[in-house]
Amino acid sequence: MVGESGCGKSTLAHSILRLIRPDSGSARYRGRDILSLNRTELLEMRRKMQIVFQDPYSSLAPHMTAEKLIGDPLRVHGCRSEASIREMVVKLLCEVGLDADCLHRFPHEFSGGQRQRIGIARALILNPEFVVCDEPVSALDVSVRAQVLNLMRSLQISKKLTYLFISHDLSVVKHISDRIAVMYMGKIVELADKWRLYANPAHPYTKGLLGAIPSLQGRRRGGISLSGDAPDAYQRPSGCCFRNRCPAAELVCKIEEPELKDVGHGHMAACHLQGPRGDESVPSAAMV
Ligand code: SF4
Repeated sequence: MVGESGCGKSTLAHSILRLIRPDSGSARYRGRDILSLNRTELLEMRRKMQIVFQDPYSSLAPHMTAEKLIGDPLRVHGCRSEASIREMVVKLLCEVGLDADCLHRFPHEFSGGQRQRIGIARALILNPEFVVCDEPVSALDVSVRAQVLNLMRSLQISKKLTYLFISHDLSVVKHISDRIAVMYMGKIVELADKWRLYANPAHPYTKGLLGAIPSLQGRRRGGISLSGDAPDAYQRPSGCCFRNRCPAAELVCKIEEPELKDVGHGHMAACHLQGPRGDESVPSAAMV
């Protein structure tokens, strides 16, 4: 899931896990509406659904050791044997690239990358199926981002995990995703297989995000240049909410809100210039 800061990505993630309660709507996991679960059912569901938070500094309680931080979800879910908890914590520490010496250390004694590894271990200790990764590398130094991303990719494969990986950066998402949803002002404006989306983005906003990725030569990769800010969420414009930033906007964009529709091969986009009435490309005059 990709989009600029403030577009609603984290709100969506927290709603899915019921860390916040949305005013309306539903969130279904394997057909069950998470928002209607009672306390016991929610606890059981949380075994299967976990989260890695953005900021490894604030998401770990500073007075708890690594052993306590990683093992606590097991205690919450009824594991009473401290020996087995320790055994599982040590095993997981190794899997995330830390060693058993770390057991008794506190968060401030770790680097940012190591702290995020602890956050990942904590999320995985209950053997979940589905993990929401809420901008897990954006607070890390560039030098350790690739290491943590590679770790997450290998854990995804070895543990057969499904991730909802959230980022504001399309270049980060590329390395870990199969399918990408692009969000703008709380709505999905494009959804496609990764290769299709990078090769042939359909929505002008996606083109703008791609255009913001610097190339090795220091130039933008084409696409369009995003300018201006998203409108106030409480004062949504009529029609398409991207129209005040869209170089291809037409009159219809002011009147009608575009629906998310299939523009070919399961590639979904919410833009009037796509699909049956569009020509499947933004006019070149609009390009920068
Ligand atoms: Fe731009 Fe119109 Fe498409 Fe919205 S619907 S993205 S304003 S062309």
